Amino acid sequence: MTELNDLLNQAKHVVFMTGAGVSTASGIPDYRSKNGLYAGQEAPEYLLSAQCLQREPQKHYDFVTKSMIYPDAVPNVIHEKMAEFAQKKGAMIITQNIDGLHSKAGTPAEKLVEFHGNLTNVYCQKCGQTATLAEYQQDMHHKGCGGILRTGIVLYGEPINEDNLRRSLAAIESADLLVVVGTSFVVYPFAGLISYRSLHAKLVAVNKQRISIPENGVMIQNDATKEFSSVNVE
Ligand SMILES: [Zn+2]
Repeated sequence: MTELNDLLNQAKHVVFMTGAGVSTASGIPDYRSKNGLYAGQEAPEYLLSAQCLQREPQKHYDFVTKSMIYPDAVPNVIHEKMAEFAQKKGAMIITQNIDGLHSKAGTPAEKLVEFHGNLTNVYCQKCGQTATLAEYQQDMHHKGCGGILRTGIVLYGEPINEDNLRRSLAAIESADLLVVVGTSFVVYPFAGLISYRSLHAKLVAVNKQRISIPENGVMIQNDATKEFSSVNVE
């Protein structure tokens, strides 16, 4: 029995908020960390911006295809346990990750908000038709019309999808337990979401490194894969 296990099983409305740290155990680098995805590249905030996509689509395309796509990555114990809580106890998952692993782990679509979009929703900017990620990886141009393809990730300078924002706020406002995992809470507006929690909601952060959390929050400083290995739906 662990503190996290007790809290999760006692709560009625759990919301998990996840970041890059939950996918590192699946072999996807923790972006923004020193040895992570963004180290040693041209400013990623530019390469992943709407401006870059518009002005220098090749640069954007090269960065996305070379540094962000991990087709062989599989969900780890964190994704799996969260999916189980989503299936059996109606927990909601709001993720910053664009890797699709929460979905691959079996999280029902209605219990998942991919706050920053995802890689697999590829479409043509010119004609709007969808394409597969494999087609995108072969060529950034749409075979049908020659327009430039893009993924469904939210780029710097683009607004968060309204439906995602609405669903996130609704979940957070009604949560009695918020569990923040694998994110240092530096990216807004994602980080600002917790300020919409109810006064009675408990806030728990699971992270290897101590992170700054609100005063009454509980910091569980541990490897999240270890922590979630001892969690079970009761
Ligand atoms: Zn097209």
